[in-house]
Amino acid sequence: MEGCVLSYINKMCLRMMGWCLLPTLFAVLVAWPMSVVLALLATAGGQPVLPDLPWQLASIGAAVTLLLWAYQMIRLWRWEHGKGDGCFVCGCLLGRERSGRWGPYRKCLGCGKNHSLQNAIS
Ligand SMILES: [Zn+2]
Repeated sequence: MEGCVLSYINKMCLRMMGWCLLPTLFAVLVAWPMSVVLALLATAGGQPVLPDLPWQLASIGAAVTLLLWAYQMIRLWRWEHGKGDGCFVCGCLLGRERSGRWGPYRKCLGCGKNHSLQNAIS
């Protein structure tokens, strides 16, 4: 029985889109305890204070996630049309520029190989 094998393109899409969920996750993790505390304050007899704040916070997190997804979708669209730097091993998109021991490099989002920018600059 074969296991689930991700192709390089699937890995690239996962690496590009996965971290976009972080704003929504963070907003929900903040909004959930906040709604519990606000509900406790309301049941304790106090005035309801900012009852829509958790919902607004989660909505802002979802909006930021959608914006990040849109940006990544534009990058993928450009990659499909041959624009943007691609990996010479697998053809996937390259990640952001990083500085390493042997100079600046970019990591492939598909196969994970490092591509030196030393020769590309000079
Ligand atoms: Zn690659």
